[in-house]
Order: sequence, then structure tokens, then C-alpha cells
Amino acid sequence: PLPTVVAVRERPAEWDCVGRTADGHSVGVLANVGSPGDATSAVAAGAGGVGLFRTEFCFLDTAHEPTVEAQRAAYAAVLGPLTALPVVVRTLDAGADKPMPFLHAGFEPNPALGVRGLRVAGEHPHLLGRQLDAIAAAASDTGAQVSVMAPMVATPDEAASFAERARAAGLNRAGVMIEVPAAALHAREILDAVDFVSVGTNDLAQYTFAADRMLGALATLNDPWQPALLRLVEMLGKAGRDTGKPVGVCGEAAADPVLAGVLVGLGVTSVSMAASAIPAVGSRITQHARHEWEHAARSAISTPGAEQAREAARAALG
Ligand code: PEP
Ligand code: MG
Repeated sequence: PLPTVVAVRERPAEWDCVGRTADGHSVGVLANVGSPGDATSAVAAGAGGVGLFRTEFCFLDTAHEPTVEAQRAAYAAVLGPLTALPVVVRTLDAGADKPMPFLHAGFEPNPALGVRGLRVAGEHPHLLGRQLDAIAAAASDTGAQVSVMAPMVATPDEAASFAERARAAGLNRAGVMIEVPAAALHAREILDAVDFVSVGTNDLAQYTFAADRMLGALATLNDPWQPALLRLVEMLGKAGRDTGKPVGVCGEAAADPVLAGVLVGLGVTSVSMAASAIPAVGSRITQHARHEWEHAARSAISTPGAEQAREAARAALG
């Protein structure tokens, strides 16, 4: 059966609140989506909202830039089932592992380090403007509580200029993903510039360990239990506490129930994952008080490697 902790149907009291630790601290237990079917699954799983809507998934096979009206319809189809829930819509994360035919940047020797995510907006500023207009229109069509988030942000200036562009389009809640170590090192300045951040652990691991996330041979380095990755999340959690702003995680790390609790212990306020992982994660988080998750997190980050971190967290939880 679905644990009651995530089966909350009423509107969350605050933006990303739906799960709870054993001592009652709220934790957003949210879904990652990329299609109308994913949105329906998110609602069925009892998600408190959507922490990551990957808009590029709507257009991966599209040869030409979709018109504002086509984008509006595609986004509204995903937002429709989510009416009244908070939804974080990520602007196009094109490039690297998600090339889009209409945004081909030409030959790049290292596409993962190239013009991808928000960097594309530097070369095509009107593309971002048109997407933000389409997102704002789809939000008003559906009544979803939409905020927008930029991928692949490296500096506080990029974060501030994205928030300004979002506000100009009438989207008043803007955040950025933390996927680049430089952005994690600037956690405080970035949080000062935006309303929230969300950690993309898939890319943050890839860039922290200089290990291509697509290469199975490097899976150990991309293990989200790596203490170096968790230390960056800890820095972000502290900055979130200092600024009073939400710090989410929307990478694969959030789908591991014990690791999700450890992330909460590091100061993360919401975790977002495939809908299928929501029941297990929600119920695991509720099994321990926040101070127990903090203890597990401290134990994990003081180890030298991913396997030891996993073991240390389990031992700390008893
Ligand atoms: C991430 O990098 O962790 C993330 C959530 O974004 P994507 O997997 O779409 O790159
Ligand atoms: Mg990413």
C-alpha cells in the first residue's frame, strides 16, 4: 500500500512540501516527468508535485524549432493532469547526451563541455524568450503552479540573468540546476539571485569526477554515494538554510531511498525522481527523525568512497 506520508492529496502547505521525517519535518517528495503519461503516473504515485519537467523530451525528434503555440500545447498536455500541483519546468537542456536537430551547434570535440543547456541561450537568446512565453501561456491554460529552472548553469551571473528573463516573461518563480561544481561552490551567491536550486546529481557527479556519465566503465566514479558529491550537496544544504530558500535534488540519487534520507540530512528540502520510486522513498524518509538522517549523512560524508559511505549510513541508522 502507498505510505500515507506521500499519499497527501490536498494542496501542500508550502511550495514543495509533502513528505515528512519521523519527527515531522516536511520534505518534498516529487516526480520527474517528460510526457503526459509521466504526469499521470506522478499523480497516481501521490507525488507532492513535479521537481523536474524535462521539456527537451517533448521535442527530441523535432527537425525545426517548435512554434510558441506548438510548445504551449505540448507543455499544457503535461501540466494538465498536474493541475494545482507545483511543477518545476526546466528550459531546454539540449546538447551533449540530448542533441536536438534544430539546435546543432556544429562540431564540438567535447559536447558535454560544450554549448548545452542554458549556454544555448547565449547563442540563441530569442529561443529562450519564446520558450518562456510558451511556458507562461501553458501555465495560465492549465492552472498549474509553475516555476522555471535553467539547466547547466555555472555562474551567479548566469543565474541572475535567467531569473530576470523569467520574470520578464511573467514567470515569477525561477531557479537553476546545480550540475557544475563551480555552481555548487557559488551556492550562496546563486541562491541570492534565484528563488530555489535543484541539484542534478547525474551531471554534478560527471563534472566533479571528470567521468562521462554515459560510460558504464566509469559507473563507480558516477556513483551518487561518492562522498565528494555528498560534500557538495552539504555545501548547498548549508546555503539553503542560510538563505531560507529550497534546495532540491532531481538526479538519480533521489530515487535511492536511503540516499534520499541522507540528502535530507544534508539539508535538502525536496527530492524528485521517477514516479515509480516515490512510494519507497517517501516511506523510507518517514522512518527516521531528521537528526538521525543528519547523523547518517555525517557518517557517509566522512568516508573515503561510495561503498564505505553506503555502509556507514546504514550502520548509523541502526
Ligand atoms: C541531472 O543531471 O542530474 C539531471 C537531473 O538532469 P539530466 O539527467 O536531464 O541531465
Ligand atoms: Mg543534467
